[in-house]
Amino acid sequence: MDSAVRIALIPGDGAGRDVMAEVEPCLAWARSRGRNLEAVAFPYGADHFLATGETLPPAAFAELRDGFDGILFGAVGDPRVPDGRHAEEILLRLRQGLELGVNFRPSRSAGPGLGIPFDVEVFRENTEGPYCLQGHTEPGRAVDLAVHTEPAVRRLLEAAFRRAEERNVPLVLAHKANVLKHGHGLWLRVFEELKAAHPAVSARGMHADALLCALVQDPKPFGVIAADNYLGDLISDLCAGFIGGMGVAPSLSWAPHRPFRCTALAEPVHGSAPDIAGRGLANPIGMFLSLALLFRHLGWTGEAEALEAGVEAALHDGARTRDLGGTLGTIEMGEAIRSRLRES
Ligand code: ATP
Repeated sequence: MDSAVRIALIPGDGAGRDVMAEVEPCLAWARSRGRNLEAVAFPYGADHFLATGETLPPAAFAELRDGFDGILFGAVGDPRVPDGRHAEEILLRLRQGLELGVNFRPSRSAGPGLGIPFDVEVFRENTEGPYCLQGHTEPGRAVDLAVHTEPAVRRLLEAAFRRAEERNVPLVLAHKANVLKHGHGLWLRVFEELKAAHPAVSARGMHADALLCALVQDPKPFGVIAADNYLGDLISDLCAGFIGGMGVAPSLSWAPHRPFRCTALAEPVHGSAPDIAGRGLANPIGMFLSLALLFRHLGWTGEAEALEAGVEAALHDGARTRDLGGTLGTIEMGEAIRSRLRES
């Protein structure tokens, strides 16, 4: 028998835990379809940090890196840890330590009455740029360094070019190389090189500010957008706004160069949403679609498609949480999706 695919579950905090509880039964469902899958839950998050002082211990990180194939992640962030130290250490340690440099954030209209027709995928570099956590504050002055390295930029752009080629859609690089001459200058140089190597892709660079304006005016000409960590964060949240908001957007981060056994982490685009956490108000759709992305990464296309179809069917039949103008709670929405899986 093949050895089991091992998935680590890290629900984290707040809404992350609410939505993780809804997708967990899908792992048993995948098993019932013959997938050899083992899932192990990890406690890392604010409760664990406040009780033990641990964020993500080195031994646990090593276990995740070497003993699992993928991670399904909820969200981290809790008002009881105002400086966000645990969240930063857990999430950034995973992203940077596992070298998950490609963050894929697709935004596709999933149901009638949910936003406008929209189908744009953002490729966001996930480990560097201004989020590399190198900086300091001194009296009257604060510094955040933005570091961009050629291998990480190249890996991100290669993934974006491949995807644009596969979908036969245009690729746009969002940058501000007119101001950020060094960092974004590097992005532009590698982009131009890859453009020459992929003549079939209609590819161009755009200043990020002009791109945002054009996207809001008419998203139809856009297919794939590539960006650094900071711009990609902003652009992908804007894209989520076109398809119903933070609750419905999924993401998958992966390491194309496969340096470790664990090559991918799936998580919804939203954060821990303390304003709605634990109250049955979080929309679990982003989490279901994130699990679909992880299944596809593992080569389980049938399960990925069934999950996506389950979400679409539930929305088509009018199932809506409050953020989408409906009345369903987190659990009812989860059940509306899961019941369609049982029928598939
Ligand atoms: P982060 O920096 O980690 O992305 P954040 O504080 O910027 O976190 P979120 O936690 O994503 O943002 O919350 C932003 C807004 O979106 C909040 O008003 C929150 O209630 C709403 N929101 C987030 N997730 C969901 C969800 N699953 N369902 C419904 N609304 C959500």
